[in-house]
Amino acid sequence: MAKRTCQREAIRQVFAHAGSPLSAEDVLSLGRQHVEHLSLATVYRNLRMLVSEGEVRKLNHPELGPLYERANLSHHHHFHCRRCDRLYELAECALDVTGSTPDGFRTDEHEVFLYGICANCSTESPDTEPARQEPRPPTEPAERSPDVSME
Ligand SMILES: [Zn+2]
Ligand SMILES: [Zn+2]
Repeated sequence: MAKRTCQREAIRQVFAHAGSPLSAEDVLSLGRQHVEHLSLATVYRNLRMLVSEGEVRKLNHPELGPLYERANLSHHHHFHCRRCDRLYELAECALDVTGSTPDGFRTDEHEVFLYGICANCSTESPDTEPARQEPRPPTEPAERSPDVSME
């Protein structure tokens, strides 16, 4: 039992320090910094428990799949940068919930992801012309790499 508590505490610690939602794989790799023998199955089992106890919230990202974050954060949404694939927490709600539904409908939950290019990525000169490239020397034949088959 002590071992389980320890694993669970490690996962709690991961969430306590997370600045954005985490996938189960993220939780695994971060949790292993606390508990070396942590397994993905253990991570999933603990995530299920933490979600059902209301300590962790599960988000369903359409591209990244299920993500998890602490449930005690104030209501907010996330911005997904298409270039670096990072998720950023937004400070406020991105939706006028009451104005979006017909009369007689009562919304009790919503999940919104904003997409675009983050500030870091947009300063990486995406709009300027791509740097002129020297004509490349002929590359080595690619037939030696078995996991890349272009034909
Ligand atoms: Zn970015
Ligand atoms: Zn909202």
